[in-house]
Amino acid sequence: AVMPVITVDGPSGSGKGTVCRLLAEKLDWDVLDSGAIYRVLSLAAIHHHIALDNEEALVPLAANLDVQFPIDGATKKIKVILEGEDVTHTIRNEEVGAAASKIAALPRVREALLRRQRAFRSESGLIADGRDMGTVVFPNAELKIYLTASAQERAKRRYLELKDKGLDVTLDGLLSEIEARDDRDMNRKVAPLVPADDAVVVDTTELDAEQVFAKVITLVQEAI
Ligand code: C5P
Repeated sequence: AVMPVITVDGPSGSGKGTVCRLLAEKLDWDVLDSGAIYRVLSLAAIHHHIALDNEEALVPLAANLDVQFPIDGATKKIKVILEGEDVTHTIRNEEVGAAASKIAALPRVREALLRRQRAFRSESGLIADGRDMGTVVFPNAELKIYLTASAQERAKRRYLELKDKGLDVTLDGLLSEIEARDDRDMNRKVAPLVPADDAVVVDTTELDAEQVFAKVITLVQEAI
């Protein structure tokens, strides 16, 4: 039988990652973190000295990308292994995020990653986290959620999270990074960030994490 898919799309910092992790735990389903694939690819490009706009060279790199997502036995969290190297934490910095959004604008690179993303659909249901999960990768998903919040609110959340980790960041700096990434992701020609026609839009600007999850669970119970 074809297993069900729930897609969760939205801009950077909208809280998709947390929602997807909690949903996957609750349902005991797998997660596809498609952003991690774009991040890993951009890191591989940097390692191999390939320019982020060199589509000709990036397509074969994408098609042959040697990446694994094993579960860490101790923490139960997903690790990211690129060419044998643990890059779980390296891929999370904003430099890599910005690089990822540059290569993500290249149509043939996206095409080369399609099959790899669809292959995440396996024995259990799948929660697919990204920008085009509901519009392009899984157009027939059982439930499509589009999670969003104002750029100001997303910057504030990121600020508190990074401050908490002891990092030296400013609210203004984070806001301009978020706005630059939104601009690239929403205005590219191929698979731009936009809610699918049949997506349920959840604006989390005024909600805390618990309220967001309660809302999402209600949608899931109605749909599945
Ligand atoms: O979600 P995350 O911040 O990890 O994604 C990094 C970048 O990868 C995004 O800014 C976006 O440009 C790209 N991306 C994409 N399509 C996806 C997931 C991520 O274009 N499905």
